[in-house]
Amino acid sequence: MEYKSIAIDGPSGAGKSTMAKRLATALGYLYVDTGAIYRTLGLFALKRGVDPGCEREVLPLLPQAKIKMAYGEDGFQHMYLGGEDVTDEIRRPEVSTAASKISAIPEVRDFLLGMQRDMAKKNNVIMDGRDIGTVVLPKADAKIFLMATPEARAQRRYAELLERGMQVEYENVFHDILERDARDSGRSAAPLKRAEDAVLVDTTEHSLEESFQILLRTVQERLR
Ligand code: C5P
Repeated sequence: MEYKSIAIDGPSGAGKSTMAKRLATALGYLYVDTGAIYRTLGLFALKRGVDPGCEREVLPLLPQAKIKMAYGEDGFQHMYLGGEDVTDEIRRPEVSTAASKISAIPEVRDFLLGMQRDMAKKNNVIMDGRDIGTVVLPKADAKIFLMATPEARAQRRYAELLERGMQVEYENVFHDILERDARDSGRSAAPLKRAEDAVLVDTTEHSLEESFQILLRTVQERLR
């Protein structure tokens, strides 16, 4: 059976996961959050006391990383590291930075590629990340590049972290967004960039609901 795939890429905090989850529910597709996979590996490096930005230290870790993803009864993607459910732990800000650093290593990207493509071979998927339309699923049926200004993204991320009960300063969140943008776009391995055939959606001036409707229309047109 041929499965359909929808790729959503864009910088941190553009609303990819919120939009992708809603789209997945609306279309009956599986939502795959690829950032969670990089985060789990980033967490593994931190737990081992390894600098996630140091290729020499990270490479020997790869064969030892027991990373799994599974969908719980709640329908959500859970991440496991060595059998332990780390779904919540990987949301910590220091894990965001570790994921961003470790994901710049080409061997890391190769190591995690199969796991992502496998999901799309067996399911109708909506996958979000940085290189889904360009590298992971270049033949996706619909591709979206979601963006917003760094200020708008930092505001959203800040509100989200507060809601999760984390104690953070807006200035730090903003700084972190700029730093991750620079790292994700500037790296040589699968940098964040819009695929030529991706539809650009800027959510800065739109409410969540408006952005979702734009996305839904775009995807439905492409799938037709
Ligand atoms: O999407 P999220 O913010 O959870 O991703 C964490 C980090 O993982 C990103 O900053 C990015 O560096 C990296 N990532 C990536 N490629 C993907 C998904 C995430 O490089 N497909």
